[in-house]
Amino acid sequence: MRIISGVREMQAFAEEARREGKKIALVPTMGFLHKGHLSLMQEGRRRGDLLVVSIFVNPTQFGVGEDYEAYPRDMERDQDLARQAGVDIIFAPSAREIYPAHYQTYVNVEEVTKYLCGASRPTHFRGVTTVVCKLFNIVKPHAAIFGEKDFQQLVVIRRMVTDLNLDVEIVGMPTYRERDGLAMSSRNSYLTPSERTAALCISQALKQAAALFGQGERRAKALVQAAHNIIAAEPLARIDYLTLCDTEELKDLSRVDREAVLAVAVRIGKARLIDNVLLKP
Ligand code: AMP
Repeated sequence: MRIISGVREMQAFAEEARREGKKIALVPTMGFLHKGHLSLMQEGRRRGDLLVVSIFVNPTQFGVGEDYEAYPRDMERDQDLARQAGVDIIFAPSAREIYPAHYQTYVNVEEVTKYLCGASRPTHFRGVTTVVCKLFNIVKPHAAIFGEKDFQQLVVIRRMVTDLNLDVEIVGMPTYRERDGLAMSSRNSYLTPSERTAALCISQALKQAAALFGQGERRAKALVQAAHNIIAAEPLARIDYLTLCDTEELKDLSRVDREAVLAVAVRIGKARLIDNVLLKP
């Protein structure tokens, strides 16, 4: 496994691999790797001859007062896990390497970024699309693997790739969970033991709504209410949003008459946790 921190070096390496006819798969991450990331790497390993994992805590996707400085980092552990997962290259640039002096260019997806996480984090997706677009230009992947845990991010990136005619296949992978249902996230490390227990209300709420949906309930109000009741009963949890919307435009639905997602963001202690469940009629 090779570790590359320079943009030029990464580009040259990717160019050489492409000349040799190799398929490049990219898994973009912010590090502090967990089994969710590893499931993406497994898929990348299957799809690519060269598997690149980027580890970059991207400053432009954090808002003022958010957790950029506090975000957990452990490069040594990440390297061990990546090596075990069969990663060929870790691309781990510095913030200065990605955003040199006088940097002033951003990619903005206009509509689907307004809802859900975009409503409470208005500059977040601009940072995500900008860095992902840059990573595509640097790593030159044929395929890039993302998690459905960040469902809106996946929608936004697919939109960007379609709208800008980017020549990369976007692959979405299901959310990897702890045994008790909590979606794996680097930010779970912020939780105290009692907050960790409280956080179970999120997956339980989604599970309850999905069960009702399975029994034939199609009214969004009833499904959202069922989930809301479970989270609202947890004193340590504060709901940021709990929304049932379609999976393409992310517009609110009143009835689930096409593929939909019930998406939630909850604050517990220092953590803001997101999760979702897909509902397919
Ligand atoms: P992050 O390092 O949190 O920015 O996540 C990097 C990638 O891993 C993103 O595509 C996430 O959607 C994905 N990811 C994070 N958590 C999970 C999970 N529990 N299951 C599957 N994918 C995940």
